[in-house]
Formats: sequence, structure tokens, C-alpha cells
Amino acid sequence: MKVPYIHLGLQHQHIKKDILKSIETLLDNGQFILGEETKKFESRFATLCGTKHALGVANGTDALFLSMLALGIGKGDEVITAPNSFLASASSVALIGATPVFADVRDDFNLDPVKVEKAITAQTKAIIAVHLTGRPAPMDELCALAKKHNLFLIEDAAQAIGAKYKDKVVGSMGITGCFSLHPLKNLAACGDGGVITTNDDKIYQHLSKARNHGLKSRDECEFWSYNSRIDNLQSAILNIKLNELDKWNNRRREIASIYQDKLKDLDLILPADKSHEKAVYHTFIIQTSKRNQLQKFLLEHEIETKIHYPIAIHLQEAAKYLGYKKGDFPITEKQTDFILSLPVYPELNSEQVNYVSKKIIEFFK
Ligand SMILES: *Cc1c(COP(=O)(O)O)cnc(C)c1O
Repeated sequence: MKVPYIHLGLQHQHIKKDILKSIETLLDNGQFILGEETKKFESRFATLCGTKHALGVANGTDALFLSMLALGIGKGDEVITAPNSFLASASSVALIGATPVFADVRDDFNLDPVKVEKAITAQTKAIIAVHLTGRPAPMDELCALAKKHNLFLIEDAAQAIGAKYKDKVVGSMGITGCFSLHPLKNLAACGDGGVITTNDDKIYQHLSKARNHGLKSRDECEFWSYNSRIDNLQSAILNIKLNELDKWNNRRREIASIYQDKLKDLDLILPADKSHEKAVYHTFIIQTSKRNQLQKFLLEHEIETKIHYPIAIHLQEAAKYLGYKKGDFPITEKQTDFILSLPVYPELNSEQVNYVSKKIIEFFK
């Protein structure tokens, strides 16, 4: 049995007709950028997150970058984030002109509030809480830290759309929530896209202009800015996919619970739900000291797995100038050698999930 790590085509099978119809409508009416579909998508996205506002942008990295731009973060400022995230959680900080500062994570791959507090200096302006793997970061602790030290708390919710922390949806707890709609994310455009959520009217007003050349009307430019608009075509497709999101996220959780049940007696660390959270399993990452052998064994049985991510951000060539070295973040670095992402997309059938489980059990015997 073949189990690819991901098969992006499959998610369109049931909704292809609707997508093609909406593309046809746009081809006829010519509304390619921003437009009615985008307004509708933004409004539905805000409802989903329980925020006052949601704003479509070009991608998730821009969502982070523009958030920091709106908050006035720049040269001389420090922003604390996780070294085990996708690199954009840190590159966006560098691109805005500020300095990325890392704090180590806990077993569940999310920031350790104790380490975050130790990393705070007089220059610190913000914390980017990454909800890595689709599991919410410890928001009570991070919100309290941000309040105590007068810092902005930005949520990098790129992997966690629809995830819940207590009764709150991710993206609604920080000053802004930053989402990616990259084809691999839980809610995916057929191309690039991103969203910023916020409850702050001023930030929203500013960002509405900042994503569109600083224009306050068709012809009046208030400040020089970027072009980071979302395509109306993507919004139209996303409006169709939004109807499926709950179902898709629930199926990810279902697959996760099958793995959790079948693999529970093995000598490996499994991701586990805490009672106050609802994770959406963008990835299902197990940890084992036999990672490389296991990955090879599974591949021999046509099961494809991935590593998210094989090189921690602080050890990337691009981060050299920051002066970090191996040993600075022991938990992140240990995880780098131990982590393995199992296939967890909604279109996996139960035979495939059982087969993956069976082969992992076989490996450990
Ligand atoms: C995907 C991702 C991003 C970047 O999103 P893009 O749309 O690719 O720019 C940022 N942070 C995290 C945690 C991500 O997974």
C-alpha cells in the first residue's frame, strides 16, 4: 500500500465543480484583485476566529511582516520567537529591520514561557507565539508575560487555523493573528495567500492601506507601502473550501487519535491533546531516537514521512550574524534529531492510517 506524505489534488475532488464555476464567474466579471469574494472571505474568516476584523494579504510571511509594520516595530527592536518554527517566524522579524531573538520550546514544540521571560531585554518589543503543528501555544502564560513587560503578542497561527485554546480560537488572543493559506496549510489557496486578524480598529484601518500601496482611496496615497493583496480568485476558492474546514480539521484529529491509540505502547513520544485545547494537527510529529532508521524503514514500505524541520532556525546560514551556536537551545536541537512527521491529511483513508501504524509497530518489535 502506498502512503504519500501529502496529495494536494485529492482535496479538490468533491468541490472541483464549484471551484470551476466560481473561476468562470470571475473570468467573466474581471474582478481579479480584492473585490466582493475577498470581502466575503474576510468577513467569514473573522467570524471563524471570533475577531472584529480579518484582512486578506499575499501570504503568511507578509501577515507577520505587515503586523510588525503596523505596530511600529523596526530597527533596534527585538522580537522573541521559536527556533523550531518554519523560518518565516524569524525572517519576517529580520525583514522589518528588527532582531529575531529565540527562546527554547517544550515537549509539545511550543514556546516555553519561562525561557521567553529570560530572553526579554530592554529592547524587546514583541513576542511571536507560534502555534506550531496546529497546537495552540500556552497563551495564558504568554499573554501574562506580554502584559507584565508591556510587549505586543503576535500570533503566528499559520499552522493552526481553527485550533482552540480554552474557549478562544487562535488568532483572537494576540494583538494580531497571522495566517498562511499556502497549499500545504489546513485551509489552502490554490497558490499563495495569507490573513491578518485583529480586534483593534486602528491597526485594521492601517493595515487595509498598508497592504495596498498606502492608498486611502483609489487615487490618494497616505504613505508609501507594499503591494500585498490577496487575489479575488483565491478568495473565491477559499470561500468554497471554508465550508469544508471543520470537517477537514476533525478528520485530522480523528487520524491523530488513531495514531495516538495504536502507537501508545511504543518507545516514542506522541503528540497529546491537553484538556483545554483543540489542536488541528497540521502535522503529526512523533519523537524517537531511532528516527532515521524508522524513516528509512517506512519508506521501504512505501510510506512517506517528512521532518519539520531538519535545521533549527538559529543554526541556519542566514541566521549566522545573530551569533547563536549549537547548544543554545537544547530541546529544539534534540527534537531536530528525533522528530518525524507522519501523514495526517484528511483524505487519508483508515486503511492507510492503520497500515502506517502497523508498520511502525513492526519496526519497534
Ligand atoms: C507557512 C508558515 C509561515 C509562512 O507562510 P507563507 O504563506 O509561506 O509565507 C509562517 N509561519 C509558519 C509557522 C508557517 O508554517
